[in-house]
Formats: sequence, structure tokens, C-alpha cells
Amino acid sequence: MLIMRPGHISLLLLLGILLTLPTDVYASKNEVHLTCSRIAGKLASINLDECIDRKLESSLSYSEQNIPLLIKEYPPLKQRHPQARILMLGGIHGDEYSSVSIMFKWMAKLDKYHSGLFHWQVAPLVNPDGLLRKKSQRMNANGVDLNRNFLNGVNDHAGLEYWRNHTKSDPRRYPGIKPMSEKETQWVHTLITKFKPDAIVSVHAPYGIVDFDGPPKPPTHLGPLHLHLLGTYPGSLGNFAGEQLGIPVITVELPYAGIMPSDREIARIWVDLVRWLKGNIPKKKKIKKQQQAKESFSLTDLEKVQESHPHK
Ligand SMILES: [Zn+2]
Repeated sequence: MLIMRPGHISLLLLLGILLTLPTDVYASKNEVHLTCSRIAGKLASINLDECIDRKLESSLSYSEQNIPLLIKEYPPLKQRHPQARILMLGGIHGDEYSSVSIMFKWMAKLDKYHSGLFHWQVAPLVNPDGLLRKKSQRMNANGVDLNRNFLNGVNDHAGLEYWRNHTKSDPRRYPGIKPMSEKETQWVHTLITKFKPDAIVSVHAPYGIVDFDGPPKPPTHLGPLHLHLLGTYPGSLGNFAGEQLGIPVITVELPYAGIMPSDREIARIWVDLVRWLKGNIPKKKKIKKQQQAKESFSLTDLEKVQESHPHK
């Protein structure tokens, strides 16, 4: 009979940790590398090194087809309490290539200029199954429009009823058998409930506008994109997070799904977005209190970004 003393058990535990931890980390790195090579193979404006350099992490959540859902966190920095938490999402629709590519361009700016003004979580590709298949598609692997699959605040049938009655059962807008039926939607839902963002930025294409749901007053424009309210649908992110939870959802609709904005436009949208977030999230009263409580800093995120684009 094998007798184990407490000392033996802790030794075994330690051995177990030593054996499993590096493997997990290694597996996760491999997963990120593999997913990056698939993204780079699909998107002309992102190369493999550019994707790997962003140092994305596997969230340990996976798509319906088991592709890791990647995330990058820009955490609070020492001696600076972030003004707000911002969640940024790209590629909810798999055929809107520019909405994924621009996330990598903006992450490169954050990699350089993150000053702790905000605590960011960035998920550049929410729907990898839709993007990374041979012929990219809006929906996920199960043919579900993820932007119709969130909780609708009414009942399990509201999304399907709306789909039948208002879209003539358009397959591109299929909300799924019930709300939150899809792994990718569940993941975003978990991000929202755990991270508790003060604002969500969601990038789409190709309407070339800014849409907005929830409080407070929306931005009139971000770079060349002007405000145009499109309204919400049962199960859309704007309906769920903006209207039901009261989290401002800024939807950036790029003008083309397959053509990236120019570098100048990419920078202008970013600068305006950060400026608007800085002035409006959270509400101004709260910001004033926070500002009184903390030391002043010489340069903000926005100013640093502007430094690199002096002609803005
Ligand atoms: Zn879209």
C-alpha cells in the first residue's frame, strides 16, 4: 500500500505544476502563432510578423470550430488609475476584412503609446470561423450572425420572430436557434460581464459611418466617418450592451470591407476616438472627481498620439 505524507503530496503538486505549466504556455503560444499565420494568409494588410509582434494571447476560449479566440490586454500602469475600461471588438462579421486589419493597426499604436489613460481589452477577431474559411462569410461556422445572437431582453423567440417577419428569413441575419447559442457570443458576453467595460468599440464595414447605442451623447464624427444612427435589432450588441446594460457602444463602420482606409484616416479615426472617450467616458462629473484625486501627468495618450501625427 502506498502511503503519502503531506510533504509528498506538495512535492507531487509542485512537480505537476512544473510539468503542466510550460506545456500550457507553449501550447497557447503555438495556438497564437498558428492563428496568426492563418490571419496573415487571409488579410493582405497584415503580415505574420505584424500579427505575432502584437503579442496576442489565447483567451483559452475557442470558436465553434476550435480556433482560439485571441485577446490583448493593455492593463493599468503603475501610479496611474485608468479613467475607464474600454473593450474593443473587431471581426464579428467574418467577411468584413478591414474591421480586423484596423484592429492590428490600432493595437500597434497602443503598443507604442499606451500610457495607462484607459484599461483596454482588444479582441481583434471575434468570428475567426467566418473569416478563416476558404470563402469568408459574415456568419460563424453554424451560419449564425453573431451580431443577432446576444440576449435580446425579451424572450428566446424574439430574435427568430424578428428574423422571419422583418428580414424575410435572410440567412445572413440568422440569429441562431436561441440567444447565446454560439461559443463566440458566449465569449463576448463573458468578456462584458467580467471586464465590465465602461464603453465598447465595435468595428464593422462597409457603411462608412459612426453608429452609437446607449448613453451619453454620441460623437458627431470620428475622422472622416460621420454619425448616422442605424438603430438596433433583437440580439445585436448595440441592443444588448447599449440599450439593456447602458454601456455606450460606439460602432465604427468603415467604408469598405475589402479596402483599408489610408494610414492618415486610420490615425484620424483613432485620435478622434481616444479624444471622445477621454471627454465622455465615464461621464464628466466622475472624471472631474478622479482628476482632483490624482496627480497630473505631462502627456496623455491623446497628446502622444498627436505628437506622432503633428499635422492632425
Ligand atoms: Zn458587420
